[in-house]
Amino acid sequence: MNQKTRAILLRSYKYGESSRVAVFLTPGSGKIKGVLKGVEKTKSRYSKLRFFGLYDAEFRRIKGRELDVVASLEIVDDFAGIVKKSESYAVAVTIIEITTLITNFENEEIFLFGELCFVLDMLSRSGAGENPVRYLIIYILRSMYRGGFIGGFSECNVCGNKLGPFFVISSGETRCKKCVTSGKKIFIERVLASKIDGIMRGKMSEHTYLSVGNAELRKISPVTRLLLDFVLSKPLKSLDFLSSVLKKREKSSKKINTESVSL
Ligand SMILES: [Zn+2]
Repeated sequence: MNQKTRAILLRSYKYGESSRVAVFLTPGSGKIKGVLKGVEKTKSRYSKLRFFGLYDAEFRRIKGRELDVVASLEIVDDFAGIVKKSESYAVAVTIIEITTLITNFENEEIFLFGELCFVLDMLSRSGAGENPVRYLIIYILRSMYRGGFIGGFSECNVCGNKLGPFFVISSGETRCKKCVTSGKKIFIERVLASKIDGIMRGKMSEHTYLSVGNAELRKISPVTRLLLDFVLSKPLKSLDFLSSVLKKREKSSKKINTESVSL
């Protein structure tokens, strides 16, 4: 049985002499792993493999085999602007690693697939002066909330109190002053909690990604990091890569950059 679908390439690795196995994210079937037969040969029937490229793909399921065969693969968008800026590239790599970790095989991922295409497109079109880390922070908050990994930030997770400042604790919950326990936590003002809640629940739009100021982003960043560490059980390799890229940029810019945000 063949399945035609849009698909984003998450990763690929060599398989035998001239083939590769690739892992894609699809809207209707979650992750799909398939063999690209002879893709390493000079004359290959597939479009060139682009990390985080968007494709029209056709998968063939073979009974009794663990791996699907990729019957055809045509590139739709390679988000070419991303590889032109090292920070954008490092952000995209981190977004892809997180997406790989929070998605399953055989699951419907309609929201996440759409959001991933959207954020890659925005990253690809972002200007040279823009800090791309904003896309990462906002994508993390939205994908983790919509994936059901974390709750909203509109009330205390214990007593339901909607007023006053909150704490975000290491189990990914928001709690009021009365209900907070000991252990790692981050204090956030009510206004900021509302802002984060709005980001999580907001429409998939440019406004959702661009309406957060850099000062706010700097405050949201440690909260996002705490939530990310709670959801993922292992540290991300790509985050080390991202911080080294950001440090290098910081060093090379002569004036102190007050706009910088990291994660
Ligand atoms: Zn409470």
